[in-house]
Amino acid sequence: MKRDRISDGVYVFTSGLYAEVTATVIFTDEGAVLVDTLPFPQETRQIREFVNQRHMPVAYVVNSHSHADHIYGTYLFPESVVVAHYQCRRLMERYAETALHQAKEQTPQLADVQIRYPELLFNDAMTLRIGGKTVELNYSPGHSRDVITVHVVEDRLMIASDTVMPVPYIVGGDLDDLVLSLQAIKNKSLENLVQGHGEVLLRGEIEETLDANIGYLRTVDRLVRERIARGVPRTGILDITIEECGLSRIPLGGLVQKLHHANLLTLYDAYRSGIKTRRAAASQ
Ligand SMILES: [Zn+2]
Repeated sequence: MKRDRISDGVYVFTSGLYAEVTATVIFTDEGAVLVDTLPFPQETRQIREFVNQRHMPVAYVVNSHSHADHIYGTYLFPESVVVAHYQCRRLMERYAETALHQAKEQTPQLADVQIRYPELLFNDAMTLRIGGKTVELNYSPGHSRDVITVHVVEDRLMIASDTVMPVPYIVGGDLDDLVLSLQAIKNKSLENLVQGHGEVLLRGEIEETLDANIGYLRTVDRLVRERIARGVPRTGILDITIEECGLSRIPLGGLVQKLHHANLLTLYDAYRSGIKTRRAAASQ
């Protein structure tokens, strides 16, 4: 696990065990805010140790969305208030226990994990004021329907969760919503952006990364529709390369290539089945 100090009292932890998923600690005079946890308890316990050394309670744990890799460490903070979108709580109630049960069968290191449900819920936006910091939580659907971003206004810091990843991932989500959510981040003036997975982005790279991600989504959308119009079969869709869509296949130890293929197949199936029709406004 890697730890980076990105501004005064703000630390980003990046998993060495699973897909470079990130968790962020924000220290304030009135307690810490932890945005997301890491999936393996051994790593989240190290984060807890780090906070404990400063004799600082974790006042809030924010669950950015319900995916397992972000929420499985929440149970290690029983004293904290857990914050999330309403949809996150709903999705967890529906799926989390079964998914955890299956995950434990395959991955013994998860044996201790328990589902801890978020209790402070919101729909569109909510602001936490703690120790002189303004922490704005905003709904940011697309990667999944329950994602939120966390904007620490005084630090000009955006914790973007899986709205921003080395390759946008739309399986189980919605491409047009994700484009709109990426555009919403572009309007902020930021010093640092923490991605849900991978490197922290610095001021000079934020705009270009957001543009590249929006460009990727529009290009995969166009290329998949063109191939469907030409009658290309499902497997033929996989020859659309990630580079052709403007991104690199290198980040996350090559995992991005898998995510890219899953995106292509998901879009292909959605258009072929008529589940998805083109929403003109969002894809222009
Ligand atoms: Zn996710």
